[in-house]
Amino acid sequence: MKQFNPSSMASTARTKVRPTIREFDLIRSLHQRYGRGTPSVIQGIGDDAAIITSRAGQWAVLTTDLLTEGIHFDLRTVAMFDVGFRAAVANLSDIAAMGGTPRHLLAALAVPRAGTSRQVHQLYRGMMAACRPHHVGLIGGDTSASRSGWFLSLTLIGVVPPRQTLFRSGARFGDFLFVTGTIGDSLAGLRLLNEPRFRANPHQYTAAFSKRYRQFLIDRHRRPTARLAEGQWLGANRLATSAIDISDGLSGDLRHICEESHVGAEIDLRALPLSRACRGYAATRNLNPMDLALRGGEDYELLFTVSPRQRPRLEQTAIKKGFSLTCIGKIRPFRFGLQVLSPDGRYRRLVNTSYRHFT
Ligand code: ADP
Ligand code: MG
Repeated sequence: MKQFNPSSMASTARTKVRPTIREFDLIRSLHQRYGRGTPSVIQGIGDDAAIITSRAGQWAVLTTDLLTEGIHFDLRTVAMFDVGFRAAVANLSDIAAMGGTPRHLLAALAVPRAGTSRQVHQLYRGMMAACRPHHVGLIGGDTSASRSGWFLSLTLIGVVPPRQTLFRSGARFGDFLFVTGTIGDSLAGLRLLNEPRFRANPHQYTAAFSKRYRQFLIDRHRRPTARLAEGQWLGANRLATSAIDISDGLSGDLRHICEESHVGAEIDLRALPLSRACRGYAATRNLNPMDLALRGGEDYELLFTVSPRQRPRLEQTAIKKGFSLTCIGKIRPFRFGLQVLSPDGRYRRLVNTSYRHFT
C-alpha cells in the first residue's frame, strides 16, 4: 500500500503537509544498509514479496509483534535504537521459546508526521543490532505515514526440526519448573527510568543506589537478551517438556503453560532468581523484589518444565554450557491451581499481576 506520497497524505489529512521522509528514498536506503542477503534468501527487499528456500524435514516457525508508541514504549525513556532492539528481541525470544532458529525478518512501520529518516535509521540500527548475532537478515516490510504515533510490527521467520519443537502444552504433573537468568530486572529498570527525579536529571541522580546496579537494570530494560542458545539446547536434547518466554510477567505467563498443559503449579518464592541490582533497587524503594519478579514482563527469560528423570542431565549440562538456570517450583495437578509458597511457609493463590492490555 502506498500511503506515503505527499499528495495522498494531503488528501487524507485535508491539510498541506510536507513529509520529512520520501518513501522510495527511505526504502532504498533501508535496503542498502540493512537488507544484505543470506544463503537461504532467493529474493529479498525489492520485489513484490520475498522468497526464501526451505529445507525438507524442517518446520517453519513464524511470529509477529506489534509495538505502539504510548502503549509499548515511551520515547521520553527509550531511544529509537532501543525500540528497534527490543522489538527484535521480543520476536527472537518467541522463536527461542519454541526451540527454533530465527532466519528472516520483515518490518512494517508507520511514521508520525514529525518523524525523521534519522529516527527510522536509528530504529533499524537497533533492530539489526539485536538480529546480527543470530544471522537474521531483513527481507522486506512495509511503510506508511501515521496520524498519531509510531507503530512498528515485526515478523520473524525461523526454522525448527519437528522433534526439537517446544510447546506450551507438554508440562506434566511432577515436572519441575525452571527459569533462565534473573527476573524482575527489566521492570526495575523501567521504574527507575520513570522516576521523576531520574527524568529530571539522569546524570546527577543516585538516590542511595549504586551507579553500576542502576546501569545494569536500565540495560536489562533497554537491551534484553533473547535466550536462543538455551531454547535450542532444551529442544535439541529433549530436556524440556514445555516452554514459554516471559514477556508479560511470570505470574501471567505461567498460566499459559498451565492452561495449555491442563495442569496446576506451585512457585517457591524464596527460589526466584533475583539479581543483586533488583534486590538493591527494591530495598531502597521499599518494594518486595519478589513482586517485581512475579509482575515484571520483558525480561525475555525462558520458563520451562523438566521431568524428574531429565533434571540431573539438565543441571549437569547447563553447568558445562555456562547457562544459568533456577528451579522455582513444580507442576501440580490441575485442581491444585496456581499457588505460591511464601517465605513464611504458607501457600497462597498466585495472583496475576502481569501486564494486561484490556483490563
Ligand atoms: P508494495 O507496494 O508492493 O508493498 P513497497 O514499495 O511497499 O511495495 O515495497 C517495496 C519493497 O521494499 C518490498 O520488497 C518491501 O518488502 C520492501 N519494504 C518496504 N517498506 C519496508 C520497510 N519499512 N522495511 C523493510 N523493507 C521494506
Ligand atoms: Mg508496501
